Amino acid sequence: MASRAIFLDRDGTLVWPREYPSTPDELLLYEGIGAELHALQQHGFRLVVVTNQSGVAHGYFTVEALAQMHHHLARELAGFNVHLDGIYFCPHHPEGVVPEFRRHCECRKPQPGMLLAAAADLAVDLSGSWMVGDILDDIEAGKRAGCRTVLIDLGSEPAPSSSLRRPDFVVTRTVEALRLIRAIEACGPPIQHRYWPARWNHAPEQKGYSAPSSGEPASGRHPRAHALAGSALPGENGVGTGFNLFEHDGEEAR
Ligand SMILES: [Mg+2]
Ligand SMILES: [Zn+2]
Repeated sequence: MASRAIFLDRDGTLVWPREYPSTPDELLLYEGIGAELHALQQHGFRLVVVTNQSGVAHGYFTVEALAQMHHHLARELAGFNVHLDGIYFCPHHPEGVVPEFRRHCECRKPQPGMLLAAAADLAVDLSGSWMVGDILDDIEAGKRAGCRTVLIDLGSEPAPSSSLRRPDFVVTRTVEALRLIRAIEACGPPIQHRYWPARWNHAPEQKGYSAPSSGEPASGRHPRAHALAGSALPGENGVGTGFNLFEHDGEEAR
C-alpha cells in the first residue's frame, strides 16, 4: 500500500540556516519540531529529508563528511523518537570544482529528482504528500513532484514568479508548518492560519487548501481543515494578507 510522506528540506527548515555547514555540530535542530515530526510519523507519514548539498561539488566538504552530518542529524531526531525514512542529497553543481560532481542533474532542487527517487524507493503517493522548505526552489520541486507545499518564510524569497513556485501555505517557523499539516491531515488540533508575506503584496489567488463543498472527503481524506482566501486580512503586524484555517464540519463556515 502506498504511503505518504513529508519531504523536508534540511538547512533553514530542520536546522538553523548557516552557510555551507560542514561538520555535525553546525547542524542545530530548531526547537519544538521533534514532537511535531513524531506525531506526523505516528500518523503514518514517512519523513524524508531532501537537501541540495552543492558544497560537495564546490569542494567545501566531502560526501563522507556529509554522511557524518546526516548520521548526527538522524541521531538527534531519534532522541525525539523520530526516525527518518531517508535522507536524499544532491551533491552536484554545474559550476562545481570537483569534476565528479560538476554537472547539471535532475536531483538538484527545483528539479524534483530526489522526491521522485524517494517516492519510488518508499512507494510514496506523491499527491498525498507534502514538501516543506525555506526557499521557492523547494516549493517548485514539491510542486513538480505533485505534492502540496509549505514555505518557511525566512525573508529571503521574492514573490513567486510562476504558479509552480507559489506555495500552498506560508508560515514563519517550521513548527508552524508541521502543526498546519497536522491540522489539515486531522492528526492535530485545528489552528488559525493567516500568514502571507506582506512584501509579496498580493493575496494568494488560489486557496491554499480547499475542502470540497459537498463535505465529501477528497481522495479519501476528511476535510477537517478549510482555508479561505482572504481579501485583506491583517497579518500579525497589521500588514499583509492571509487566509484563515479553521475547522470544517461539512457546513459552510460563514
Ligand atoms: Mg533550505
Ligand atoms: Zn544532483
